[in-house]
Amino acid sequence: MKAKTQQGLLFVISGPSGVGKNTILNQVLKRRPDIVYSISATTRAPRGNERDGVNYFFLTEEEFEKQIEAGGFLEWARVYDCYYGTPRKTVEHHLQNGTHVLLDVDIQGAAQIRRNYSGSIQIFLFPPSFQVLKERLLGRRTEDPTAIEKRLSYIKQELSAVGNYDYVVVNDEITEACRRVEAIISAEESRVSRGYWQDLLKDFKLDKI
Ligand code: ADP
Ligand code: 5GP
Repeated sequence: MKAKTQQGLLFVISGPSGVGKNTILNQVLKRRPDIVYSISATTRAPRGNERDGVNYFFLTEEEFEKQIEAGGFLEWARVYDCYYGTPRKTVEHHLQNGTHVLLDVDIQGAAQIRRNYSGSIQIFLFPPSFQVLKERLLGRRTEDPTAIEKRLSYIKQELSAVGNYDYVVVNDEITEACRRVEAIISAEESRVSRGYWQDLLKDFKLDKI
C-alpha cells in the first residue's frame, strides 16, 4: 500500500551483528519492491562480495568526516571502530514523495532518529540465543576472530536497548521472522493516524455521488 499524498514511512531495523538483519531485509524487500532500502556510508572495508553503491558507499575516514561537517547524514555513529551513516538527501527525498524507506542502523543511530523523526517505526531483531548468534557470525565467515570477538562484546549493550524500540522480532526461523516484519509494515501502513484514508476518500470522489 503506497501512500500518495502522505509522507512515506521511515522503518528502522537494528539488532546485534549476525542476527540476520541483511538476510531478512533482502527477503522482505523482494516481496515489497515499493520500499526503498537506504544504502549507508561506512569506513569499514568491503567484504568479499560487497560492492560500492550496492551494499554500502565505502568512504575513507576523511571523506566521511567531510560529510559529517557538511550535514550530509541523517544520523551517523561509530560502530565497532568504524564510521557508519545514513545519507540524508535520498531518504528525505523518498519520504517526501510518499515512498517508505527502510534503514539498517545500530542502536545509536536508531536513538538519533527517534529524537529527530517522531514518526519512525523501530524494529529490533533479537537472536534466539547467544550460542546461535555466535554460530551465525562464525558461519558467515566475513570477519576474523578479533572482529567477531569485538562484535560479540557489544551484545549486552545492544540487547539492553530493545526496550526503546516499537517492535521486537526473534529471528529463529527465517520465514516466520520475515512474515512478522512484513506484518509490522502492513499494520503501520494501515494506521488511520497515517492519513492514508485521505487518499482513499479523494479517489472515491464522494462529491460526485
Ligand atoms: P546481520 O546483517 O544482522 O549482521 P546476516 O543477515 O549477515 O546478519 O546473517 C548472519 C548469518 O546468519 C548469515 O550467514 C545468514 O545466512 C545467517 N542467518 C540469518 N538468519 C538466519 C536464520 N533465521 N536461520 C539460520 N541462519 C540465519
Ligand atoms: P556491518 O559492518 O555488519 O555491515 O554493520 C555493523 C553495524 O553497523 C550494524 O549494527 C548495522 O546495523 C550498523 N549500521 C549499518 N549502517 C548504518 C548506518 O547508516 N548508521 C548507523 N548508525 N549504523 C549502521
